[in-house]
Amino acid sequence: MATKKPAKLSPKDLEEFKALLQKAKAILSGNLSQLEEEAFSQNGNVDAAESRPGDSADGYYQEFNLQLLENEEEALAQILEALERIEQGTYGKCEGCEQTINKERLRAVPHARMCIDCQRLAERRGY
Ligand SMILES: [Zn+2]
Repeated sequence: MATKKPAKLSPKDLEEFKALLQKAKAILSGNLSQLEEEAFSQNGNVDAAESRPGDSADGYYQEFNLQLLENEEEALAQILEALERIEQGTYGKCEGCEQTINKERLRAVPHARMCIDCQRLAERRGY
């Protein structure tokens, strides 16, 4: 009886991920140099004056920003697709096994199209 399936995303979850995606989109399509600066200053020295009170997701963005920097055009395209999937109501569903993608994973990679298992499988196939 204890098969643990990730719960389907609630409208509240979708709002959360939509906000993340929209912020990422704004960063990517807007001011990339500022993004770079933020990512690197957070990596290097600690500047307390720079920390923005009220932004509880700082740790998340630090990681996410650096990830995005590797290939911002690709990331932007994927983010736009993810926003479209939210509109279509298919967001958060794995393209491989059709299970709901783990929320932890979506927080780290909001544009993920596959769950971690299917992603690994796909990578092993060299896809
Ligand atoms: Zn899957």
